[in-house]
Amino acid sequence: MDRRQFCRTTLAASVAAAIPMLPGCSKQAPVATQADTSIRGISLTGAEIELEKAAIQELGESMTGPVILSGHPDYDGARAIWNGMHDKRPALIARCMSAEDVSQAVTFARERELLVAVRGGGHSWPGKSVCDDGLMIDLSQMNTVTADADAQSAHARGGALLNALDTASLEKGLVTTAGVVSHTGVGGFTLGAGFGRLNRKYGLAIDNVLSATIVTADGQIRTVSADNEPDLFWAIRGGGGNFGVVTDFEFQLHPFDRNVLSGNIIWPIDQARDVLEFYAEWSGGLSDELYAGPTIGTLPEINRVIMMDIVYNGDPAAGEKEIAALRAIGSPMADTVAVQDYMNMQTGMDVMMGHGVRSYAKNGMISEWTQGLIDAIIDADDPRTFLANHVAGGAVKRVGEMDTAFPHRNAEIMLVMLTAWGDAAQDDEMVAATRALHDAIEPFTGGYYSNIDFDHSAAVGNYGPAYSRLAKIKGQYDPGNLFRLNSNIEPAV
Ligand SMILES: Cc1cc2nc3c(=O)[nH]c(=O)nc-3n(C[C@H](O)[C@H](O)[C@H](O)COP(=O)(O)OP(=O)(O)OC[C@H]3O[C@@H](n4cnc5c(N)ncnc54)[C@H](O)[C@@H]3O)c2cc1C
Repeated sequence: MDRRQFCRTTLAASVAAAIPMLPGCSKQAPVATQADTSIRGISLTGAEIELEKAAIQELGESMTGPVILSGHPDYDGARAIWNGMHDKRPALIARCMSAEDVSQAVTFARERELLVAVRGGGHSWPGKSVCDDGLMIDLSQMNTVTADADAQSAHARGGALLNALDTASLEKGLVTTAGVVSHTGVGGFTLGAGFGRLNRKYGLAIDNVLSATIVTADGQIRTVSADNEPDLFWAIRGGGGNFGVVTDFEFQLHPFDRNVLSGNIIWPIDQARDVLEFYAEWSGGLSDELYAGPTIGTLPEINRVIMMDIVYNGDPAAGEKEIAALRAIGSPMADTVAVQDYMNMQTGMDVMMGHGVRSYAKNGMISEWTQGLIDAIIDADDPRTFLANHVAGGAVKRVGEMDTAFPHRNAEIMLVMLTAWGDAAQDDEMVAATRALHDAIEPFTGGYYSNIDFDHSAAVGNYGPAYSRLAKIKGQYDPGNLFRLNSNIEPAV
């Protein structure tokens, strides 16, 4: 059995989760560590370039936040991102405190054609928010969220975490769609689409963005919305970090009772086929209020299971009625579904998915549950892997394919195949295990979620019909492809 493997994974995740959050940078000096002479940087095309001390000094003086160089006590903490597989060393880290700081950093990089990475919450699975020898634009200190009960909206700064978005909104009796691990960043999550447990009712995160403030490659600070620079506003809702650095998101909020019917129903793995065959029929007819998604994984002291993640966003009695048939399938070994604080669900995976764990993930969009898909999931099950989900449908599906830059509107569910481990010696083995599971499921998918994917060779096709418009807008706002560490869109000339 694979309890040993699980224990290693969980132990690694728990140890990693205990790593303290980065302390706020108390140092106000413009340059945290002075470069003695020039330092080595890398250009957008991979050529070595020289970054002169005087220019770095000038950048530091132009910003309210510090520029952090190798050797400074904050350097290693600032370059660390969630996925422990990515140990990269930027030439300099611009720790921004404002849109004006971001503008200075962007201008510094553009003028030198210096490679740029943008760090929001630092949860890029493929490690795109850090780079070797380039400039890391670090938004981690721009992390506040304010919610307005009268306007039913919230402003989240570019480096805010989902926990802050949920917390500030719930305090006002409101909510918007946020993801399932609360230390994920609002920035990358939202720009790529943003799946969460409330999206069947309220749509994806991008469907709730009212406006955004963005620093484009020319250093300009722009506020975009449906009325102001609508092309750019369209592009950032699904086009990822391709178009600039967002320093503020304005979200639509919705009235919400945080006491929701929610929890997990858990069956032993040998009942997985029955559960999935039932789910394939049942999930097609669910209300927008119900989020129910299957996960296959290994639980401590329990072994391999299939679990259903449930949140019912409405009258609990109606929710109980809707999930009754699911509860009657097979013999569940545990059922934690009860009325409880929504934040219990939203933070429930925070420790298991803790900072510093090594992890690899692939995913695919599923528009239909077929017998072939179920057979593939059962036959390819590997105790080293997790099969997680992001349920879509409902309001996600009612938005037109070209209304935002995220075209995968017909998916009922996104399946995520992932592994997480602690020992670098296992990297190859765990990556191969994830790929094998993905290979088995891929024939049943139509496109993937670029926020999670590692391999960007298919980026053009994955944006589908949105690509040509995206490329045109990219050509207008980022003709030199400064923002390229993402699911990249080549600027159209
Ligand atoms: C543990 C975990 C749980 C997740 N859960 C979910 C989930 O429930 N739903 C879901 O949809 N996705 C989920 N994801 C995927 C997640 O949406 C992406 O990893 C996303 O990129 C994370 O955003 P970030 O700001 O934390 O990442 P970062 O690593 O900081 O940034 C990722 C990329 O986004 C861009 N970016 C980030 N912030 C900005 C900004 N302010 N302006 C411009 N560009 C920016 C940059 O291009 C950067 O390379 C999860 C990922 C992890 C690791």
